[in-house]
Amino acid sequence: MKIGFIGLGNMGAPMATNLAKAGHEVTGFDTADVTIEGVTMASSAAEAASGRDVVITMLPNGKILRAVADEIIPAMAPGTGFVDCSTVDVESARAVAEKAAAAGLLPVDAPVSGGVGGAAGGTLTFMAGGSAEAFAKAEPLFGIMGQKAVHCGDPGAGQAAKICNNMILGATMIVTCEAFALADKLGLDRQKMFDVVSTSSGYSWSMNAYCPAPGIGPQSPADNDYKPGFAADLMLKDLRLSQQAAEAVDADTPLGQAAMRLYAQFVENEDGLGRDFSAMLPRFEKRSREGDK
Ligand code: NAD
Repeated sequence: MKIGFIGLGNMGAPMATNLAKAGHEVTGFDTADVTIEGVTMASSAAEAASGRDVVITMLPNGKILRAVADEIIPAMAPGTGFVDCSTVDVESARAVAEKAAAAGLLPVDAPVSGGVGGAAGGTLTFMAGGSAEAFAKAEPLFGIMGQKAVHCGDPGAGQAAKICNNMILGATMIVTCEAFALADKLGLDRQKMFDVVSTSSGYSWSMNAYCPAPGIGPQSPADNDYKPGFAADLMLKDLRLSQQAAEAVDADTPLGQAAMRLYAQFVENEDGLGRDFSAMLPRFEKRSREGDK
């Protein structure tokens, strides 16, 4: 296939390289001056999008996605697949899909889980929203860039699945870190705590696969001085999107809201910026019930 790829950052670059390695002809565009293995660079987004079978975007946020979509939609022929893999607000995803469908394109919102490691290894999970026809057009590419793609429903359903998943992740990571800090103060050995919880009803991905305590459980960013991994500021972005969506549909999400506030405090007023989202554990270690010691 002829593929256009717009947004070649930490995630987009390895995803585009994997498509090129699989034999597809990939033309890329990024506002930053980047060189990507196997990818021919175009001089504008419209040029990267014109004459392709599928165009993929991997951009920072909904505002940028909307601007890029306005530029590329007129350049794409009817029947072209338009796959947005960025994490954006549900409203932007739906607005872009509507414009694209009106132009005869096949739009899919397909945010990913798996991070930079998953992008490089071709093991991402895609959560997709769009028509059956649009999903079918994108599916072979999901199989190259990832190991699993779930067709979640109509446009916006992929973004909805992503923010619900990450709201669960943010809240469970916080409570897992709280529990380790409480266990410390109760004199409970961390390894024993892991042995019990990871095989009991408190288990979760945060505890079992990404344990925030150094030297306990599988290798995780905690074993690498909390270098990301999944950065706390990206978790904050996703939690904000979850609360924006919850407000828009009048859903009561008290724990999601508390998680968003705590990550905002951690990233904006404490030392969380640039650290992994599991660095909540050293944060709680330093604190007393009243706040900072
Ligand atoms: P990034 O900032 O590294 O990459 C974004 C790229 O888009 C940059 O290279 C930037 O120059 C480019 N860009 C910005 N405006 C542009 C424009 N108008 N036209 C063309 N290019 C433009 O971010 P990333 O980590 O690659 O993340 C991309 C998306 O994936 C985000 O929506 C993020 O939330 C999501 N995501 C990231 C991760 C992760 O672990 N990094 C995991 C899952 C999802």
